[in-house]
Amino acid sequence: KAQSSVTAGEPGLRLRDVCKSFGSVAALQPTSFDVPAGTLCSLLGPSGCGKTTTLRIVAGFELPDAGQVLIRGEDRTYDPPQRRKLGMVFQNYSLFPHMTVAQNVAFGLRMARVNRAETEARTRRMLDIVHLPQHADRYPHQLSGGQQQRVALARSLVTEPSMLLLDEPLGALDKNLREQMQFEIRQLQREIGITTLLVTHDQEEALTMSDMIVVMDRGRILQTGSPAEVYEHPRTRFVSEFLGTSNIIACTVAGAEEGGLRLRLPGDEGSSGFFVADVPVRPVGSTVLVAIRPEHLRIVPAGEAGPSEPRATVSGHVFRGATHVFQLQRPGLDRPLMAYRQITGPVGETALPVGAEVGLSWLPGTARLLEDEPLR
Ligand code: ATP
Repeated sequence: KAQSSVTAGEPGLRLRDVCKSFGSVAALQPTSFDVPAGTLCSLLGPSGCGKTTTLRIVAGFELPDAGQVLIRGEDRTYDPPQRRKLGMVFQNYSLFPHMTVAQNVAFGLRMARVNRAETEARTRRMLDIVHLPQHADRYPHQLSGGQQQRVALARSLVTEPSMLLLDEPLGALDKNLREQMQFEIRQLQREIGITTLLVTHDQEEALTMSDMIVVMDRGRILQTGSPAEVYEHPRTRFVSEFLGTSNIIACTVAGAEEGGLRLRLPGDEGSSGFFVADVPVRPVGSTVLVAIRPEHLRIVPAGEAGPSEPRATVSGHVFRGATHVFQLQRPGLDRPLMAYRQITGPVGETALPVGAEVGLSWLPGTARLLEDEPLR
């Protein structure tokens, strides 16, 4: 609805070679990406990677040294923030404490001199959308943290902005509430169909909420894709590890085969190794890095394992509610492997105590060859 004036085919947001330095610090290398209209894009990366700088350039709080910011196809690079018509929710972007919830939400409409009847109607509708119709006359201090963030959202959306900017909006909330709000904001964003840019350092938040994730490090984009793409097809060690736990294993190239490579785990010299499809050819004998997620690593008692399955020893086990988490040792590895086992019934004794020997396997297609050169 709010997006009805989008020019067909124009991305909701486009950055073209935007860069920014603060003195000698290159906060943002030339950066380009498109956010399709009506979708939610996360900027994900560790502290200092440049995500807030990117968001501030989109907001107009910061001018880029070069490059362009296009919002719905219009060049907004040098427009002041108020002319960009953006909605914003920040972690510390607090509500006006002396105004009621309804007055807070209506604020932007009053500033825009929208008439009283329409202001009331739109405020009421926004409060319905964020599930706070009963709280219109309360003051912010009478609300929970989650309710306050919902009011902040309502306040930023009531003016039908061209885009929504969220900077760690849930950072101040505890874990359960944060998870609930992630779903709520995502649902709301979809309903309204507003192009949204979210800054977060929390990989779970990015995976839960996004249509598209831009993974950043040291002022550069490392990888862009849907949550499933960046999680399942990380190109580099950094992306693989930043998006979750990952077993990174230096393997030897045993041979090139039709459509892929045959690799050997360290300490597995005699075996036929395993196959990784759709990867660039590498010289036989060279070392490559492979990433396998703990949930893809399957372990069975050694007695039940196939004769060619690599072996490992359970060196640690913890129960984590929905999963068993195993730590596994294998000669030739510089750190233990992690394997998750989904718990589907009553939690009994694990059949794989510390010290047990196990066979390792994984489904074809779940091991990823990384682009990084292994450290020598
Ligand atoms: P965080 O999650 O900690 O906010 P971030 O990924 O958002 O990190 P930015 O805030 O964009 O990172 O900062 C990128 C780099 O630019 C950092 O090295 C930071 O110290 C530097 N920087 C950002 N703003 C300024 C400024 N106003 N003056 C000088 N340096 C800055």
